[in-house]
Amino acid sequence: MKIVIIGGGAAGMMTTATICEANPKAEIILIEKNKDLGAKVIISGGGRCNVTTGLENSKDILQNYPRGNKFLISAMHTFGPKDTRAWFEEHGVCLKIEKDLRVFPVSDRGDDIVGVFKKIFASSSIQVMFSRAVENIEKIDNQFKIYLRDGEEILADIVVLSLGGQAYRHTGSTGDGYAWAEKLGHTVSKLAPSLHSFVVSEKWPGILAGMSFAKVGISANCLKPNSKIGPFLFTHRGISGPAVFAVSSLSALAQFSPSSPLLIYIDFLPDIKLNDLKNKIENFNKLNLKKNFKTSLHQFIPHKLVDIFGSEFKIPIDKKNAEISKREIETTAQLLKKITLNAIGRGAGDEFVTAGGIELNEVDPKTMASKKCPGLYFAGEILNIDGFTGGFNLQAAWATGRSAGQAILDRINSI
Ligand SMILES: Cc1cc2nc3c(=O)[nH]c(=O)nc-3n(C[C@H](O)[C@H](O)[C@H](O)COP(=O)(O)OP(=O)(O)OC[C@H]3O[C@@H](n4cnc5c(N)ncnc54)[C@H](O)[C@@H]3O)c2cc1C
Repeated sequence: MKIVIIGGGAAGMMTTATICEANPKAEIILIEKNKDLGAKVIISGGGRCNVTTGLENSKDILQNYPRGNKFLISAMHTFGPKDTRAWFEEHGVCLKIEKDLRVFPVSDRGDDIVGVFKKIFASSSIQVMFSRAVENIEKIDNQFKIYLRDGEEILADIVVLSLGGQAYRHTGSTGDGYAWAEKLGHTVSKLAPSLHSFVVSEKWPGILAGMSFAKVGISANCLKPNSKIGPFLFTHRGISGPAVFAVSSLSALAQFSPSSPLLIYIDFLPDIKLNDLKNKIENFNKLNLKKNFKTSLHQFIPHKLVDIFGSEFKIPIDKKNAEISKREIETTAQLLKKITLNAIGRGAGDEFVTAGGIELNEVDPKTMASKKCPGLYFAGEILNIDGFTGGFNLQAAWATGRSAGQAILDRINSI
């Protein structure tokens, strides 16, 4: 039985490794467009590779997938974050769980993760074709004919599409698999960038570019009232950081533009209730009557942002605290809890993942087998699955790759 796995990213590598570790003689060809494996794994997590999450509870884990959480139940049960961690450790990569529960190799090197797969492949009969792009696939009777860009044709009994999404296209993931899947009978849901920064119409965030906050609350008008809390950053044209990425993920399919912006709300003090904040400001002012109001504000936010409160929002930051009215305290506290920005665009090309993909009701969640085309399997980001930052996207690729590999292995063994 000849197996062809197209795409040597996280999902394709895990599918391949699962088969060839258990059956080193399996007839597998892994086709990769790049001259090496796992381009995205290597650059992920800023080159440190946030390989999975340290979360243990499956409900908590699945909550991090705005799309695909139900579909993932089975794959995560078989190969959840704990299994991923154990697997890499067993294969010689020591991992560490950081305070925010992101998991990295102790070496902080993504290529140590890819190295695990290279070692497995080197000790099996699998053929890895590098720098070879697949151009098309056809189903002919019970077999697949795979057309490579250089003219070569390969016949296969089983094909795994693990070509990723279409984010960070220069890494090789250019969305080639969607059209083939459609031709083979599948539906591709609406595709959109996710985990990206926002461009805003206001100019003042640019003045603060580079200023970061460890913890803010971010929400948007298209979402339910609950905000996403996490690190945040002002950029030259808008806002970025994990809390912003989470909101970008939840609003991935929302339409917005300069004429119809997405309203984004920032809460600079998510741990303090509005009334408590007002009292805190009032008490500080009473004890510091001769100081300027900016000293009062500076308890909560950096100087440069205090200045923006003065210039953009007309808060009288240069008045003495003794002269600040209750109403001015109220307005200031409200602004600290909710500043509105008009998002007019997505940071072009900076998204980490693609939201949308192969419709999940057309794929068996236990085996990743196509329900439309016998012999066809999917794994990874090509599916309509995407998660927040924190190791959830690689985890989905490992888990779906593992399920596909295990199912193919069972098929080989049943012959
Ligand atoms: C900058 C960045 C940082 C990230 N950091 C993290 C992180 O820290 N943690 C996390 O969980 N997730 C992270 N992600 C997301 C994560 O990397 C992806 O979700 C994951 O790699 C998807 O794996 P995949 O195998 O499905 O697809 P991919 O990794 O995209 O692999 C697909 C492979 O298919 C190959 N291919 C495509 N077309 C063809 C073709 N026609 N012929 C042959 N081969 C082809 C590509 O070259 C590629 O190697 C990050 C993403 C980016 C862009």
